[in-house]
Amino acid sequence: MFDYLIVGAGFAGSVLAERLAQADKKVLIIDKRNHIAGNAYDYYNKDGILIHKYGPHIFHTNSKDVFEYLSKFTDWNHYQHKVLASVDGQMVPMPINLNTINTLYGLNLNSDEVDHFFASKAEKVSQVKTSEDVVVGKVGRELYEKFFKGYTKKQWDLDPSELDASVTARVPTRTNKDNRYFTDTYQVMPSEGYTKMFEKMLDHPNIKIMLNTSYQEIVDEINFKKIIFTGPVDEYFNYCHGKLPYRSLEFKFETHDKETFQETGTINYPNDYAFTRITEFKYLTHQKHHKTSLVYEYPKAEGDPYYPIPQPENAALYKKYKAKAEQLKNTYFVGRLATYKYYNMDQVVAQALSTFKKIQNEESENTTEVIALKPAVTSFPNEEKVMVGIKGFANNFNNK
Ligand SMILES: Cc1cc2nc3c(=O)[nH]c(=O)nc-3n(C[C@H](O)[C@H](O)[C@H](O)COP(=O)(O)OP(=O)(O)OC[C@H]3O[C@@H](n4cnc5c(N)ncnc54)[C@H](O)[C@@H]3O)c2cc1C
Repeated sequence: MFDYLIVGAGFAGSVLAERLAQADKKVLIIDKRNHIAGNAYDYYNKDGILIHKYGPHIFHTNSKDVFEYLSKFTDWNHYQHKVLASVDGQMVPMPINLNTINTLYGLNLNSDEVDHFFASKAEKVSQVKTSEDVVVGKVGRELYEKFFKGYTKKQWDLDPSELDASVTARVPTRTNKDNRYFTDTYQVMPSEGYTKMFEKMLDHPNIKIMLNTSYQEIVDEINFKKIIFTGPVDEYFNYCHGKLPYRSLEFKFETHDKETFQETGTINYPNDYAFTRITEFKYLTHQKHHKTSLVYEYPKAEGDPYYPIPQPENAALYKKYKAKAEQLKNTYFVGRLATYKYYNMDQVVAQALSTFKKIQNEESENTTEVIALKPAVTSFPNEEKVMVGIKGFANNFNNK
């Protein structure tokens, strides 16, 4: 019998698998995809270039705890991400800063002057409710239209006036010349990639991994005491209150027979083309190669669930699922899909580490109940399932 069934081998599931295994628990972690690492999965393409299958993932955090925890499984390269936006035929730094304004308007302002510039353009917004309010209230309508309106429309298929303030509030405006996209204390990339880091995390004799396996296929076939679910919370409850809406993306990859393609890691195209941005992986990974690979991101309504759509009606729908989830014993919902919130990787790691502490406290209070005592599996129902062995995996399902 497994102590824990963990659904999803992304950051949420893998951090919890690792912590629980270290605490002597027997863990089965499954994923419906054919790989571990969730959306952070990276691999070498046929030209031998390390690429991110689900779009560019840049690690940044202010949390020493999260950084130190992950450092047990990887070395790091320092990487400070820089983004340019293609606006009015020029490449200018994003988020908007002093350099952006000086380049765009051919000015030579200093920090104080650009502060006044923003203030003179800003519109009075009595109550900041939407993504449009945030930007026009800070920098005015012209910059809003150049940098945000088109990008947001492409990304969400909604006008910023229809979207929660949180979406554009995440992007700062600076009066200095700091061209970095993030300003977190730790800005690093795993030196051998994310997948290698996950392999190390899951390399423990107490952890069994099954890929190409959905929760629904095996839940009635496996013996386990507790479950950690990191898939979509509405799916767990059979969409009983309706489907939680997500925005998706299509990724188009290209490899070019030259060392570099563009002048920085990511270039945003707020106003032209159907894609939102192009990222060139070698900037992120520091890989040396005579060719270079890129990804174009095309936002879509259908497809894998990537971004929860931040609108009040969706928050209300999620609340109904949350209430159901809270009624379940020995069942934990962790991660971005299970809590219907866009989280960065470090936030999901922090959420998983705090869930582990909660579980430990509960166990020390001895409140454990066995919820799922189902018949032991003697042979696996579907021969085509892939059970992947990271070192230490015993290929014997009854050896629990
Ligand atoms: C395009 C894009 C770019 C991003 N860039 C960044 C970035 O630069 N920096 C950053 O910090 N964060 C970034 N993120 C966010 C990052 O991807 C998430 O924080 C992280 O992946 C969340 O981990 P998770 O474990 O919650 O979810 P996931 O990584 O999605 O893992 C969940 C796993 O559960 C599996 N699963 C779901 N349902 C089932 C089921 N029924 N049965 C079995 N398995 C199931 C899925 O296959 C998946 O592998 C980005 C996200 C996107 C979409």
